[in-house]
Amino acid sequence: MTKRNKNGGETNETCPCGSGAARRACCGPYLDGAVVAPTAEALMRSRYSAFVEGRREYLLRTWAEETRPQVLELDPEQRWLGLGIRARSAGGPEDEVGEVEFVARSRVRGRGQRLHERSRFRRVDGQWFYVGGTLLGKPPA
Ligand SMILES: [Zn+2]
Repeated sequence: MTKRNKNGGETNETCPCGSGAARRACCGPYLDGAVVAPTAEALMRSRYSAFVEGRREYLLRTWAEETRPQVLELDPEQRWLGLGIRARSAGGPEDEVGEVEFVARSRVRGRGQRLHERSRFRRVDGQWFYVGGTLLGKPPA
C-alpha cells in the first residue's frame, strides 16, 4: 500500500475530520472504500478528511455525476485546520436527500481561510453523493 501522507498507515491515529475518534473507527473505512458512508454527515466528514489527506479520487467518487468537476486540483499548500458541523437536516440512512452546514478552516501560504457552506447530498442505491453547496457567511470586507 502506498503511503499517501505523513499520517498514512497508522492504526491509532485520530481521524482528520476532528471527530476525536480513531481514523479506522471514523472516516478511514469510507476513504479506503471498505464501506460507504451511511449518512450525509458521515460522507461530509469523510470528504473533509479526503481534503486533508489529498484523496482526490475519493472526492470525485463521492461527487454527484452532474456536478462533478472534470478535473479537481488540490492546492498542496492548503493546510486544513478544523471542521465544525453547524446544522444538518435529513441525510439519515433512510433518507434520499440531506443537507449539512459546516465551517472548515484552512491556511494557504499563511493566509487563514474559512469555508462556511451548506452542502446538499443525495443518496443513490445506498450511497451518498455530494451534489453541491451554498456558501454562507460574510464575504471578506
Ligand atoms: Zn472522521
